[in-house]
Amino acid sequence: MEETLKILVVDADEVDRIAVRSALTKAGVQMELSEVRDGNDAFSALSTTTYDCVFLSYHLLDQDALTLIQQLRSSEIKVPLVVLTAQGDEQIAVQLLLKAGATDYLSKSRISPETLTQVLRSAIRVYRAEMQAALANQQLRETHEQLIRKNQELERQQQHIQMQNFNLLEASQLKSDFLATISHELRTPMNAIIGFSQILLRPKFAQLTHQQADMIERILNNGKHLLMLLNEVLDFSKLEAGRLDLKAEIFDLSKVINLAVGEMRSLADAKNLSLLVQTDLQNTLIFNDPVRVKQILINLLSNAIKFTESGEIWVEVKELAENRVVIQVGDTGIGIAPKNFKRIFEAFRQVDQTITRKYPGTGLGLAIIDSLVRMMGGKIFLESKLGIGSMFKIELPRQITLSTVAGDALASPVDADGVFCSAKNHHQSSSQASKASIGYPKFKL
Ligand code: ADP
Repeated sequence: MEETLKILVVDADEVDRIAVRSALTKAGVQMELSEVRDGNDAFSALSTTTYDCVFLSYHLLDQDALTLIQQLRSSEIKVPLVVLTAQGDEQIAVQLLLKAGATDYLSKSRISPETLTQVLRSAIRVYRAEMQAALANQQLRETHEQLIRKNQELERQQQHIQMQNFNLLEASQLKSDFLATISHELRTPMNAIIGFSQILLRPKFAQLTHQQADMIERILNNGKHLLMLLNEVLDFSKLEAGRLDLKAEIFDLSKVINLAVGEMRSLADAKNLSLLVQTDLQNTLIFNDPVRVKQILINLLSNAIKFTESGEIWVEVKELAENRVVIQVGDTGIGIAPKNFKRIFEAFRQVDQTITRKYPGTGLGLAIIDSLVRMMGGKIFLESKLGIGSMFKIELPRQITLSTVAGDALASPVDADGVFCSAKNHHQSSSQASKASIGYPKFKL
């Protein structure tokens, strides 16, 4: 052993103490050896100094080794202890001392340089290994307690988040219900305003001055506009609550397109915009919800007219492979920057979000279209360039399947194929647009 060991010998018998000392010296153990005669002296020596090993005679002057070991234990003094037993004491040593906490024992009759150094080394090794194990155990216990505490904290946080989630869902549900109720309630008086204005404008019904007719026409137009906004809010809240159903039937797509275009023509005329339609379908019949298809068209057309100051608006319908059709609505309007491609499909989002914005609207139109198209199992593509124009392409299956739940359509941006249904994939950038060759001669990006 390289290190100098501090060793304490506790024995009333001087001959025995000399035997231990000389055996250790002969064995060449580098040590600082202290000797005491009784248990009390041993206890005070061990209370003030740290020893590497104690050789302890079983019989002491004032007490036996067992009492001293228990005393050391209760004072939490830890040290490797080798009990030296007299002839015939081995049994007691094994039964009592090892159980009480001694590290090892050796019969005094067997003391020799070899046996003593062997016992000394193994006692120190065992003691150190025990200390390390105790330390590791302590660390494990602490880590375990920390983990339990963290787990409890996580559980608390999870409960808190669940609670907040629940509150949010409830608030969102309340908001949707409120929107649905209020827009529904407002529609009834609005229909009366529109209906009576129309009756008043009938020449047979009333003799109106030019000024009166003009005023009633304004009431009628504003009423219609307000009704359209209310319908958007109602649709949106229905989609959010998963309560909007598609009522599919077989109908003539070109007729619905002509109807929508017919309804929007006066608005285009008022802005001196040409409104062109090109239908290129071998079979014009499709299976879908005609009211919702028309709504999509009216919405796209009204945006195209709203955001175009000069030039033209066009609608083009074509067959696609795999029994699909594409409806394209294009304009030569202000265009949309690529960074806004995704945003404009989110509810209440507009490129110009200021209150003083030039173009009015709720910001719900495209969000509703996006959800409806997804419910129909279709996809929307956007191609646009600032200052040049925009084109919205709606790809639809000729025959829709009514499996999509309406609520999912708004809640998740993932379409039936699991494709992320946003600007990233479907609403193409303008650079992609030029490659996509949209094929209408009037529109060049
Ligand atoms: P709203 O038209 O009521 O504002 P939409 O959801 O229909 O709401 O459209 C969202 C936004 O997308 C619009 O505010 C506008 O900024 C942009 N947008 C939609 N269509 C066009 C278009 N044809 N040309 C330019 N910008 C458009």
